[in-house]
Amino acid sequence: MSEKSTVLAIDDAPANLKLLGQILSPDYRFVFATKGADGLEIAISQRPDIILTDVVMPEMDGHQVCKQLKSNPLTAKIPVIFITSLKDETDEAFGLEIGAIDYITKPFSPAIVKARVRNHLELKHYRDLLESQAATDGLTGIPNRRHFDESLEREWRSAIRRKSCISLVLIDIDCFKPYNDFYGHLQGDECLRAVGRSLLGGARRPSELVARYGGEEFACVLPDTDLVGAAHVAHELLERVRALELTHEKSTVGPHVTLSLGVACMSPEVGDLPGELIHRADTQLYEAKRAGRNQVKGG
Ligand code: GH3
Ligand code: MG
Ligand code: MG
Repeated sequence: MSEKSTVLAIDDAPANLKLLGQILSPDYRFVFATKGADGLEIAISQRPDIILTDVVMPEMDGHQVCKQLKSNPLTAKIPVIFITSLKDETDEAFGLEIGAIDYITKPFSPAIVKARVRNHLELKHYRDLLESQAATDGLTGIPNRRHFDESLEREWRSAIRRKSCISLVLIDIDCFKPYNDFYGHLQGDECLRAVGRSLLGGARRPSELVARYGGEEFACVLPDTDLVGAAHVAHELLERVRALELTHEKSTVGPHVTLSLGVACMSPEVGDLPGELIHRADTQLYEAKRAGRNQVKGG
């Protein structure tokens, strides 16, 4: 944890905020709000690492703040600690039930506030690490199949909701078995890394996802992209890997490592499944192989 973590405190009493600031600002970037609604805005715009919120506040109370944080995917994973003078156990249980991670009762001891914040930040750090490792392909360091499946599923639902189109590019390295056989498995791995990195660099928008689909196959999910746009991306990916000029003496295509790419686009409706898009892109990939490899089909 190199950069300072950001702590957001929400409390309608300035004296409490002042005290929390004194306790926490030596170790963290401390931001605060005196109203629940302002706190939510800061949470969305600044994505603090942890949020301490008072429960009893006029207008929007701490429970409402917590509920809204937990229902927004942008803020759902930020740990929320309630700071409250309410000592009633049922209140505490309710707070934990709606997603708070812990409780600190007022009047609070600086040592306890410090320790709880530190512990929960550390837990969050390891949770985030675990999550990112679980979504990353160990060999290439790019998003893995699991990440791909989740993204495609999410973007698919979003495309149905927004009545927009979504494209998929399936990518397969040409003649990779002879590459492995001739250069050895380790160099094969090195080749997969180089291709993966290069493809990753070809994504243009944050919503686009490049992932390792399996073996020597990669995939690129393109939300809000029509067939023409997707074909354009596919050609760029083809060119990027061509430009690496990775020597491949045993390729039937040419002297370097090349790709075959299949592109498909759909405007899904309720009841359609993303497997159909994968199937269509796969059919086009097969066509690219059949037509001589080192090309894009479907665009
Ligand atoms: P095509 O041009 O039709 O795509 O032929 P190909 O040889 O590329 O395809 P094939 O499916 O016959 O071979 C894929 C090879 O990819 C076989 C397998 O050993 C290799 N491979 C899959 N995963 C890995 C990996 O993680 N590391 C290495 N080094 N090789 C892998
Ligand atoms: Mg293959
Ligand atoms: Mg192949």
